[in-house]
Amino acid sequence: MQKTFLLIVLLISAMGNVSQAQSYSLVIKNGHVIDPKNNIDAVMDVAVQDGKIARVAEHINADQAAQVVDAQGMYVTPGLVDIHTHVFTSMRGDPSPDGYTLQNGITTCADAGTSGWRSFPAFKKEVIDKSQTRVLAFLNIIGGGMRGSYFEQDPGDMDPTMTALVAKRYRNIVVGVKTAHYEGGWTAVDSAVAAGKLAGIPVMVDFGGANPPLSIRSLFFDHLRPGDIFTHCFAQLGSREFILDTATGKIKPFVWEAQKRGTIFDVGYGGISFAFSQAIPAMKDGFRPNSISTDYHKGDMNAAMKNILNVMDKFLIMGMDLPDVIRRTTWNPAQEINHKELGHLTVGVGADVAIFKLIPGNFGFFDYTGYRIEGKEKLECEMTVRAGKIVYDLNGIAKPVVLPNQRGE
Ligand SMILES: [Zn+2]
Repeated sequence: MQKTFLLIVLLISAMGNVSQAQSYSLVIKNGHVIDPKNNIDAVMDVAVQDGKIARVAEHINADQAAQVVDAQGMYVTPGLVDIHTHVFTSMRGDPSPDGYTLQNGITTCADAGTSGWRSFPAFKKEVIDKSQTRVLAFLNIIGGGMRGSYFEQDPGDMDPTMTALVAKRYRNIVVGVKTAHYEGGWTAVDSAVAAGKLAGIPVMVDFGGANPPLSIRSLFFDHLRPGDIFTHCFAQLGSREFILDTATGKIKPFVWEAQKRGTIFDVGYGGISFAFSQAIPAMKDGFRPNSISTDYHKGDMNAAMKNILNVMDKFLIMGMDLPDVIRRTTWNPAQEINHKELGHLTVGVGADVAIFKLIPGNFGFFDYTGYRIEGKEKLECEMTVRAGKIVYDLNGIAKPVVLPNQRGE
């Protein structure tokens, strides 16, 4: 008798689950989901509730959803994570992040050392606390940050103890230590690594300036730790040793070893820090940068770099497939900055989502040297969702079309 009763109760509750549509704040239907962390590369629906990913499945009933998006023919990915940007608005005149990030699918950006430990409080107050984009930061080993190149030559303003102290105090925001543009010997790198060790965070190196150039083999094996980041990896500048042997067109053997050992190779595209003459042979040789970032600043956004999608397009043209490009703009950079809650669409994580289209046409892609490649497709961002809310909708594909600012938020 009891068993029969239990069975009936179970049956009724199961039927209830089938017939009652779950209510969601947003359901994105019919999109091709690419979520490298979870090995998803298939047409799926994505449901969002309470700012979090609620479900990813082949069919999700959207009858009770507050907003529905039909993403048929589009790619649905985790919100992009750009770990090399410059967004300390008042410091160098770089624009605020929201004007650039959200319309390109970026939901998290890390500022790469525009502020140091002394200027970080102002950066936090002016930009980080006010942005819709999640803004994280590498602290410059120079306490005053990037105030101009001669300030960056001052070993007296490289304080590992204070840098680590501020990094630890703002553990959720500060993800690493940056050194850039230093023209002397190893002082800047070694001070940055000392700070990184004290705070337990990685170092990002913009290695440049010394004449003659310092050895990158020594940088990778004698100075950096596994997990430290070599940005501008496809730069071809006179002041820096290249990762490519330009005589043979092959990646130098010790670079493979360094990557295997854990050195992170990051694109950091920038104004003059990416040359096809490095990237094309490197890609042909089978080399892959660990992460693709922009080095977004006021000087490159209207030049060869433009935006992260243009940089991603260039890697697609050079033969990287789309899931691989998405991996290197989501889950890989999230791991590099030790924010493993970012860069994927696992149920329960914050719902940062991007929706892209690959647009067919005739397009040109060039680097700062004027080298130009033609391509037949490019990425376009259709929609960006940050913490469960639609913050960018290019063609008004949400039903109903409502953005947060229209709700008076
Ligand atoms: Zn930079």
